[in-house]
Amino acid sequence: MNNNFSLSHRKEEPEKGVLYIVGTPIGNLNDISLRALNILENVSFVACEDTRQTKKIMNKFNISNKLISFNQHNSSIKIPKIVKDLKEGKSMAIVSDAGMPGICDPGEEIAKILKSEGIDIICVPGACAAITALVSSGLPSSSFVFEGFLPKKQIDREKILLEISGSTKTTIIYESPKRLKKLLGELFEFCGGDREIMVARELTKKFEEHFGKNIYEVKELFRDKDVIGEITIVIKGTNKKNDLNLDRSIIKKDLNDLINAGLSLSAASKYLAKKNGLKKSEIYNMI
Ligand code: SAM
Repeated sequence: MNNNFSLSHRKEEPEKGVLYIVGTPIGNLNDISLRALNILENVSFVACEDTRQTKKIMNKFNISNKLISFNQHNSSIKIPKIVKDLKEGKSMAIVSDAGMPGICDPGEEIAKILKSEGIDIICVPGACAAITALVSSGLPSSSFVFEGFLPKKQIDREKILLEISGSTKTTIIYESPKRLKKLLGELFEFCGGDREIMVARELTKKFEEHFGKNIYEVKELFRDKDVIGEITIVIKGTNKKNDLNLDRSIIKKDLNDLINAGLSLSAASKYLAKKNGLKKSEIYNMI
């Protein structure tokens, strides 16, 4: 068996006129693949979200190639030139600051446009925080929902939270450390305290941490903590039937609204019990 895996033994000549979407590490630079390095070295040019970030990888592995900046602010100017270059037979790689381009990072739009121009796209897969968190959570991974970052607008946010509360599938969410406590509070409100959850911090890095058990415990754990670092959250789906759980969330919201409007807990529960054909104690149990 030949154990010599030097880059030259794995040389892959990039195809002309092709866009390579290249996954890069999410923290641990050693997670870069040999194939990714090869492509980054041998394409005509590399489009990156932030050239300083990509240079760190290139320098670590002694790769030099032409870098161009490509992000949401300049994509409309850059795309026509990229299309022209690829049609003329150049090859190009696109990388984001970390992980898989197109996953909450630039990449989706250019892939869509180049595809419509008849340009071939090849993915050189790499790390992705969502998948890394999912498989290390021990939660069901055969079927899952990736939500990315939840919307900031409250009404859109609550719609997704309601869906998560009723979903039987594992859900993966990206969140900034600054908003983690707010999100845990919302998950508690919409899904209850019992649902299994894992909060993954700094995946693949030196101080990687996983916090988990159920939503209540994790919410309490972070209550007085200052959170820093990158965060991905994995939540187990509900065991309960969808409709019932959606109803529960709606009833809980109605209950809050009625109490905020001035009704006592008892009066609000009595009213909602009657409206939903439930016992008053069942409404109490929901809270
Ligand atoms: N394209 C990336 C991917 O494939 O995972 C995601 C980029 S998105 C702009 C950045 C978010 O991904 C972070 O805010 C965090 O939620 C998550 N993330 C990225 N790296 C992470 C890490 N090392 N540990 C935990 N979460 C991470």
